[in-house]
Amino acid sequence: MKTNAVNIRVFGVVQGVGFRPFIYRIAKKLGYSGWVKNIGFGVEIHLESNKTGDFSDFVETFEKEKPPLALIEEFEIEEVPYLKLTDFTIKKTESGEKFVFISPDISVCDNCRKELHTSSDRRYHYPFINCTDCGPRYTIVRALPYDRPQTTMSAFKMCPDCRQEYSDPLDRRYHAQPIACPVCGPQVSLRSVKGKTISGGIPEAVSLLKQGKILGVKGLGGFHLVCNALDRTAVQRLRKIKERKIKPLALMASNFSIIEKYATINPIEKEYLLSARKPIVLLKKKKDIPGIAPHLNEIGFMLPYTPLHELLLENIDIIVATSSNKKDSPIMKDEQEGIEALCDFILTHDRPIYMRADDSVLKIVRDKPLFLRRARGYVPYPQKVHASLRAPCQILALGGELKDTISVYKNGYVITSQFLGDLDEYQNYIYFEETIAHLTRLFDIEPDIVVSDLHPDFHTTRYAQRSGIPHLQVQHHFAHTLAPLLEHGYSGSNKVIGVSLDGFGYGEDKTAWGGEFLLADYSGFFRLAHFKNVPLPGGDLAAKQPWRMAVAYLLDCFGAAFPPIPAMEQLDPKKIKGIVEMIRHGLNSPPSSSCGRLFDAVSFLVGLSPLKVEFEAEAPMRLEAAALEKIDEYYRFELDEKSTGPILISFEPMIRSIVEDIDKGHPAGFISAKFHNTLAQAILKIALYSRKKFQADTVSLSGGVFLNRRLLESTLRLLEKENFKVLRSVFYSPNDESVSIGQIAFALAQKGTK
Ligand code: ZN
Ligand code: ZN
Ligand code: FE
Repeated sequence: MKTNAVNIRVFGVVQGVGFRPFIYRIAKKLGYSGWVKNIGFGVEIHLESNKTGDFSDFVETFEKEKPPLALIEEFEIEEVPYLKLTDFTIKKTESGEKFVFISPDISVCDNCRKELHTSSDRRYHYPFINCTDCGPRYTIVRALPYDRPQTTMSAFKMCPDCRQEYSDPLDRRYHAQPIACPVCGPQVSLRSVKGKTISGGIPEAVSLLKQGKILGVKGLGGFHLVCNALDRTAVQRLRKIKERKIKPLALMASNFSIIEKYATINPIEKEYLLSARKPIVLLKKKKDIPGIAPHLNEIGFMLPYTPLHELLLENIDIIVATSSNKKDSPIMKDEQEGIEALCDFILTHDRPIYMRADDSVLKIVRDKPLFLRRARGYVPYPQKVHASLRAPCQILALGGELKDTISVYKNGYVITSQFLGDLDEYQNYIYFEETIAHLTRLFDIEPDIVVSDLHPDFHTTRYAQRSGIPHLQVQHHFAHTLAPLLEHGYSGSNKVIGVSLDGFGYGEDKTAWGGEFLLADYSGFFRLAHFKNVPLPGGDLAAKQPWRMAVAYLLDCFGAAFPPIPAMEQLDPKKIKGIVEMIRHGLNSPPSSSCGRLFDAVSFLVGLSPLKVEFEAEAPMRLEAAALEKIDEYYRFELDEKSTGPILISFEPMIRSIVEDIDKGHPAGFISAKFHNTLAQAILKIALYSRKKFQADTVSLSGGVFLNRRLLESTLRLLEKENFKVLRSVFYSPNDESVSIGQIAFALAQKGTK
């Protein structure tokens, strides 16, 4: 191609990230005239020159130097008539199309960090320094287009200096909507919980932390509860206030080398810790910090992500930085939400938070992220949908109930909300409604379809029924199975083997499913196999008291006369008998194929689980943490292939062998390793069967159980050795946060076939 003029269209996250001034600078530098302007989901660039050429210098520079926050989804270039323009300009945004992508909140960039620590800079030690490459986005924007009046910065009038930077296309802060400085921008303030102002700001806050005080610190997506992580008394007091005895607490360290003292870090983990998104990364413990993550071998660290955190950690090495919320409520964003009840002092500021967002949490498994919680820094990144699945409609998917997210679909993209929590809690339900309002407004969505879980009593299902919009329902594990397919753009015509292991999902037969093998494609599934049902004595209580599941499994194996097991001795025999009777009479003991509950039972039997757990997955996490490495042995299990209906996977032989191993005095870590291997072997066996019978060679792994690194790694190893193609969620959590994504996939398939 040799020509005088081209048009380039770039699609993706390219607005509000300093993209147009970047184009302006490189066009000027390379001597091109023309213009750049925002269009629906992207930017259009017109370039021309009086010399004909192929514009490759522009394309190369573009590739090399594009703004760090830009996410390029598509790049198109075409020849156009030469207009003989003499200058390059940034054209004003035409209103009309409102569907544009907005960047997530991004941690302070290197340029801003340098200014923050330069005493001659006018923003020296200013906790709200930002530029087009960094700063708040999703949490401060109320509506689109992303302009200052539409953000929570609207109340701050720019000073002449800021105005000058904001208006200069060659300045790093050109159109940086949250631009601010000490003269015109937000300010921090420190006060006691009784409202008394304390002078001294951030340095004084640090000295309070060093005295063992607990601070409520307003950050980007909400308040953190903060204390000195190395002060054991302060940590214990914070736990007491938060009613969290043992659930792990997240840490923020002042720099990377501090983290290295306490954790083993591989290069990929390092990359994520240092990335602009600054998630909490779960790392292998090297040196324990008492009281932070008891009974576990991983510890969660993050680095400071706002200039405020950066300043706070200038003079203290490690702080606990946990979301400030009352039990099971969303993270607090305003002081009026009761922060004073949780801390001694409050370090706050006057830039309002519009949308709450918790910190994202991930670990690295086989060089790729595995999200435990996807929120700040990653939301609202768009997810492209494979062309074969796209449909001309707009969809709102509401997810499940626990660990909920919502997703919306429009114009070939899915946008998934931040983690919202358990909607059975009233405050979380309000947060859910706020988030629906926010996402549908931001992306200008008027849903043609609303999708919910199959569960008739979920708040999300009821919301859908009340909405007056055509309503689709999707079985929980089917939605789980589709999420990785959508994420990885699966477009094969073969059905896939969906291995969906979790605690609970409402089944098509109205029972509680949770150890599921589905043969599925986007438009439907059948239940190929599942774990043999075992009663859940006490229903929901069974999930909170793992010993109940231990009794249920023993009863299933041995009948009422089960062998003596040390872990059972702490229980009053009358209590055990009560459960046995309950199960025998079928009183509140619904049958379930739950995989989470099998983990609970085994964790309790080997003596790793307490009688009552404090948080979901506590017993399984302890079991995983104990598993010894380099053990390939596994227990026997049985497949019961019936003439009709799904294959039943019975772990009865395994439970028997576990009881024997306990009796022989084998350590819990050995039994745990064998248990994990057994599950992986069961998955492999069903996969091989499905390939033989149905020619399925792609496996989708989903459900919260796959947050278990040990199980995930073993399963991947076994399946890949047999040449299966394995898909799992990478940029979403495999837990119920991904249900809304799978719901979108199903709705699209339904629309497509109509
Ligand atoms: Zn910056
Ligand atoms: Zn200013
Ligand atoms: Fe689930």
